[in-house]
Amino acid sequence: MNYLWKQDAIEHAKQCDPEESCGIIGIKNNIKKYYPCKNISNEFKAESFVINPLDWADVEDSVDEIVGIVHSHPQDILEFSESDKYSCKAIDLTFYLVSPKSDKIAVIQPDEIDA
Ligand SMILES: [Zn+2]
Repeated sequence: MNYLWKQDAIEHAKQCDPEESCGIIGIKNNIKKYYPCKNISNEFKAESFVINPLDWADVEDSVDEIVGIVHSHPQDILEFSESDKYSCKAIDLTFYLVSPKSDKIAVIQPDEIDA
């Protein structure tokens, strides 16, 4: 049951494909849940993501704690880009990367990144 959010994150990535999906993982009543967000990047959405701040505020209001950020790489490259790493460090939350093609998830922690 603990892994249910991963199914939701992968499903959302598939829906957004070929654009990048993005979402937030929040804990509510000790259960991790995936909250899909709108990608409002002004750049080409197949290669970048920006979480809609309104979605972020909504999730923040409805969960006990935000514990992670998810986005997808539709090209099936499960490697965090330099800007992903920068964002991870700046936001200081665990980052998850989802592939809508292979259903795989990669993870990186802010303290694994050299500033
Ligand atoms: Zn990325």
